Amino acid sequence: MACVFCNIARGEMKVNTAHQDNFAIAFHDINPQAPVHVLVVPVKHIESLLDLQEEDHQLLGHLHAVAARVARELGVAESGFRVVINTNRDAGQSVNHLHLHLFGGRAMGWPPG
Ligand code: AMP
Ligand code: ZN
Repeated sequence: MACVFCNIARGEMKVNTAHQDNFAIAFHDINPQAPVHVLVVPVKHIESLLDLQEEDHQLLGHLHAVAARVARELGVAESGFRVVINTNRDAGQSVNHLHLHLFGGRAMGWPPG
């Protein structure tokens, strides 16, 4: 099954990379919704948060650590940022490979739209 984020994680599709290691890649969203909008994607294909296995718990922690690191590197850590995981239709999940959105660089509304 073709998965765009698997292709990106394998280096088969060019992206604007912010961080890469053996377990995760972080890259700038193609359609940014904030001055900083980075996606943090596990190399492992996991469809959504609903498909997370016990063995993935450490990986989910790692993805958040990567988000914090990228937030610092891109200069939005102190001003603030938001990390979002969209799951299924009502949340607007459009790519069925788990990913964290990191938003920063502007004030965010609450409740989210
Ligand atoms: P979601 O709607 O939560 O599933 O988020 C998917 C995100 O992936 C959207 O914000 C898209 O703009 C982004 N996206 C899809 N394809 C690419 C790509 N090739 N490079 C960068 N971002 C992408
Ligand atoms: Zn995938």
